[in-house]
Amino acid sequence: MGSEPAERACGILDVDLAGIAANWRSLVRRVEPAGCAAVVKADAYGLGAHRVSAALAQAGCRLFFVATADEGIALRGVLAEPIEIAVFNGVLRGSADEFVKYRLIPVLNDPGQIVDWRDAAVRNGGLPAMLHLDTGMARLGLTAREFDRISERLKVPGAIGWRALISHLACADEPAHPLNETQRARFASARAAIGAMPCSLAASSGIFLGRGFYFDFVRPGAALYGVNPQPGAPNPMRRIVRLKGRILQIREVDRGESVGYGATHTMVRAGRLATVAVGYADGWLRSLSHRGSGRIGGKRVPLLGRISMDLAVFDVSEIDPARACPGGFIDLLDEDYDVDAAAADADTIGYEILTGLGRRYHRIYRDAADQW
Ligand SMILES: *Cc1c(COP(=O)(O)O)cnc(C)c1O
Repeated sequence: MGSEPAERACGILDVDLAGIAANWRSLVRRVEPAGCAAVVKADAYGLGAHRVSAALAQAGCRLFFVATADEGIALRGVLAEPIEIAVFNGVLRGSADEFVKYRLIPVLNDPGQIVDWRDAAVRNGGLPAMLHLDTGMARLGLTAREFDRISERLKVPGAIGWRALISHLACADEPAHPLNETQRARFASARAAIGAMPCSLAASSGIFLGRGFYFDFVRPGAALYGVNPQPGAPNPMRRIVRLKGRILQIREVDRGESVGYGATHTMVRAGRLATVAVGYADGWLRSLSHRGSGRIGGKRVPLLGRISMDLAVFDVSEIDPARACPGGFIDLLDEDYDVDAAAADADTIGYEILTGLGRRYHRIYRDAADQW
């Protein structure tokens, strides 16, 4: 008999699907009567778009956003119509047929995309699309000038059935930033220029800027997955991921011994080290070297030296040897040390920690019946 995947895994990534659904429902209640879509791009921020989207659809979500056409095609295999799937990057020249075949709604970002999609819509007897207006990010979307040129035409029915007008906030995680109100005002006046089309401005953090930012529907991603939408304030979302790294080896080290590549850490006293089978290839970022930590039974164990591709070393001198042994685990993400805490230690944001969690972990998906 062989081993179970969980027994030989370098780590265990636990994803609380019921928690994701609960986070979505809490945002639904917050923004009512506005609607609430779900953003599941980048494989649902690394957690598994297939499982996450099925759970959200079950909870009642009817509009999903992905970044690319291929993500949309994959998602259509999980979510049947009438659930809508919209693609932020829009439609690249030559790929309109896939959008039609898989019933994907492109978010059109520039005038060329609109022209191409209108041709496809004429050929197909009408097709839906969303329109992205840039209100202050200079990233995706029509410029104000481009929008002014077409806004009259948006009001008259044509081959493109306009499903929504969207824009995206650049500074929503900084509530006091003046650009938030500037973007809100620009978006409100664009809406006034086109009449009845549903409008959407807020992603996770924008939802917490208040009612004036809800418009007709909101588009949260990160908050669904437990990232704090209000950095600096208590996190109102449920934590979704737990991560445990497998201990491969325990060793006694003397005072003066160095640890890891570059010999960048030197033991100031004798101690005991645990080598864990998680490295930067698993999304345990190299920038966590010397700064990150794990926990055993809630007790902090510091990460020593540099993180390697497949391994990291923790100081377990203060832990009962019976609790830190080969085959056992060190908690890397939990309720207290969450993706935002790891991000702070790594000098990044929770989004990057989540999307970087690699493919080597054994994944456990929990639904309502199966709580941790
Ligand atoms: C990624 C993205 C979102 C979701 O953002 P979160 O901050 O994760 O909630 C919404 N809208 C657009 C245009 C995006 O690119």
